[in-house]
Amino acid sequence: MPKTENQLLVIFGASGDLTARKLVPALYKLYKDDHLPEHFVVLGVARSFMTDEQFRNRVALESKYLDDSEAFIEAFSEKLFYEDLHKKYDVSYRELNERIQNLNTVYQCNNNFIFYLSTPPSLFEAIAKNLTAEGLNDERLGWKRLIVEKPFGYSLDTAKALNEGLHRYFKESQIYRIDHYLGKETVQNILVTRFANSVFEPLWNRDYIDHIEITNAESGGVESRGGYYDKSGALRDMFQSHLLQLVALIVMEPPLSADPEEIRNEKLKALKSLRMMTDPEVLERDTIRGQYLSSMIDGERVNGYREEEDVDPDSITETYAAVKFFVDNWRWADVPFYVRTAKRMPTKVTEVVIHFKSPHHQIFKNSNINKDNKLIIRIQPDEGILLKFGVKVPGQGFKVERGNLDFYYSGLGDSHIMEAYERLLLDAMQGDATLYARADEVEAAWRFTDPILNYWKSPKAKVYGYSAGVWGPEHANELIEGTHEWRN
Ligand code: NDP
Repeated sequence: MPKTENQLLVIFGASGDLTARKLVPALYKLYKDDHLPEHFVVLGVARSFMTDEQFRNRVALESKYLDDSEAFIEAFSEKLFYEDLHKKYDVSYRELNERIQNLNTVYQCNNNFIFYLSTPPSLFEAIAKNLTAEGLNDERLGWKRLIVEKPFGYSLDTAKALNEGLHRYFKESQIYRIDHYLGKETVQNILVTRFANSVFEPLWNRDYIDHIEITNAESGGVESRGGYYDKSGALRDMFQSHLLQLVALIVMEPPLSADPEEIRNEKLKALKSLRMMTDPEVLERDTIRGQYLSSMIDGERVNGYREEEDVDPDSITETYAAVKFFVDNWRWADVPFYVRTAKRMPTKVTEVVIHFKSPHHQIFKNSNINKDNKLIIRIQPDEGILLKFGVKVPGQGFKVERGNLDFYYSGLGDSHIMEAYERLLLDAMQGDATLYARADEVEAAWRFTDPILNYWKSPKAKVYGYSAGVWGPEHANELIEGTHEWRN
């Protein structure tokens, strides 16, 4: 395990939901599991006024997310401090710097600082600028890192502007763009499944794979996030970021080593090889968007998307997005990829399904083995991996049924699976950027997504309704040309 050096973590936007719900609980777990360095403190920063004591109460002592003895939580909470910014982020950080330097000296953080930007993205550049004005990007005495929360832009242009803005003050090697999907064990396990085994990689190409499906289904609606979601939509919120990161891991070529830059170089090449969808005919045929309608679920009426709080009653924002596309390279030529993400589905599941081709010559004529081999990588829930293959049914003749070989992380017994934020925070604390998105990867993902978003702006592009609790608009069944099977 790499060493975690002494350091100070500064969280901007520390009065927010993410800090209380994810960041502090992740730090607490790292503390409990003895992963924090000997000298480590957290400084929460935001506009709201709070004392250290009030901050500790809010995110630790009275938190519903931490559940150990009071004394244990109290010992952890002594690592937490708070500084308010007098109502503005775009002000001089002189006082803030004094506080940082003071904590650095008292708690021996060795001038190693992480700045976690958990504010709206519109503030990222201003924060980076003000940190720089105080010399807080300078690495001569200790390293300085910037963790940036998503969304990384709203389009290719805004993503580029954001990257350029951050690069004015911090080097790319100092910037960690967090995508919590990459912190999930099963997502990382895609790399291990592919590159630590000899049985899968020889089959991982157009000769043996028929098509690939990636599904992200949520059973809930937009809940309290209507205002945010209506400006974003499924394609921006899930597809451009998390799902294209999954695509990159499936599509990429073997990296030379597990070095972060080697892996990220291959992911970038994978994203660049996605066939751009610019032809309106292709966009009309191969992309589908939908919105959930008001429906009855278990005898109760649930709101349609346009009735949700803070959603425009005439909104055309998609809560369902399905895209079929191809990858233009030697390995994947002509293999269709079907990627879907949606809300108000019958169940909550994220999985990748690799559908292998049928055997070239079928000798068991009367069997039902035309159900092809599938490798299912389950991201959530029940993280694991499942191989479906034909087995002989006992008895006369050669009746073939589908059998399963499976592995579930839950079967590992007591071994603790780190939560995504835990793993990602620890990686950033150790300077490992493997699971963070690089600027060029983010831009490549936007370059592919932008034409779809632009097409969807046109009045020609339809928005299909679907009832809550079904697998999306009926029209979507046509996208998967006869092989449509979401989940069996
Ligand atoms: P919140 O809105 O709960 O908190 C953001 C904090 O930023 C607030 O506490 C607020 O603190 C500060 N802030 C400064 N200016 C503004 C402003 N104009 N409007 C709103 N808040 C402002 O957000 P979250 O904590 O949930 O998320 C933080 C960031 O992380 C966001 O950018 C979000 O997009 C991203 N994110 C969040 C996820 C989540 O699960 N919550 C998941 C993925 C990304 P104060 O007023 O005290 O300065």
